[in-house]
Amino acid sequence: MSRGLLANKVILVTGASSGIGAAAAKVFSREGAVVVLTARREDRLVALGDELRDAGAEASCVVGDMSVAADAGRAVDLAVAEYGRLDGAFNNAGIGGDRTPLHLMADDVYDTIMDVNVRGIWNCLRHEIAAMLPRGGGAIVNNSSVAGLVAIPAAAPYVASKHAVIGLTRAAADEYAKQGIRVNAVAPGTTRSEITVDWFARNPGMEQLTNSLTPQGRAAEPQEIAEAAAWLLSDRCPFLTGTVLPVDGGFVNH
Ligand code: NDP
Repeated sequence: MSRGLLANKVILVTGASSGIGAAAAKVFSREGAVVVLTARREDRLVALGDELRDAGAEASCVVGDMSVAADAGRAVDLAVAEYGRLDGAFNNAGIGGDRTPLHLMADDVYDTIMDVNVRGIWNCLRHEIAAMLPRGGGAIVNNSSVAGLVAIPAAAPYVASKHAVIGLTRAAADEYAKQGIRVNAVAPGTTRSEITVDWFARNPGMEQLTNSLTPQGRAAEPQEIAEAAAWLLSDRCPFLTGTVLPVDGGFVNH
């Protein structure tokens, strides 16, 4: 028997190959969870799985594209086949995209962002909920963004997609509350994942600008988002469902 906030819970983490998802895999493992990791980059997943098992955790990996329903289904099926159940899921996989004014944005950028950020969450929710219902419940956390709560400039498809994540979170929370499934969302502010560090490097002054808009004056570390997700997935907040938790250094409050 493991100990911790998530002791012995079987938890699926999507987008586990880097950034917030990789940090979540480590935090959830540290808190006693058995983790099932999924993303498209197999080498990253395998390396992380090995690292967690070397540290004494139980972890399995399944390569998949969450915008493809069958891949989301395979990830959930693997958790149930290997560990007998799915207690929780952190639906974190998502993409950003370069900043472009709305009227200049290519249609295929819109389609790709919607496919991964919205259909991906849709695919995951459907399979996760179907696996949780026979067991009498579970907890799901979707990764939205502060861009799901307010507009950010020159990122219309991303803003729309992250608002939609909150819509799906609320709808699912309402629909399955009586069946013991809690569904919440985190809304991270700027977080120092690889994608953001690269974006800061390509756009001089952007990090300083972002920090100046954040009352705490800095970006989050991926682990800070993961810690909030761990709490929402835990049994410490049984009466909490349909909420969106900004983890943003005060950005949306400003
Ligand atoms: P990363 O790029 O480091 O991580 C994104 C993860 O999603 C990767 O593991 C990637 O893995 C995976 N992914 C992307 N597309 C797919 C797909 N089609 N199917 C399966 N997995 C996919 O960025 P972050 O950690 O920053 O992003 C994680 C989440 O946090 C995203 O939803 C993002 O929108 C959100 N977020 C990030 C913020 C930030 O400032 N960094 C702020 C607010 C929200 P792979 O390429 O191997 O498939």
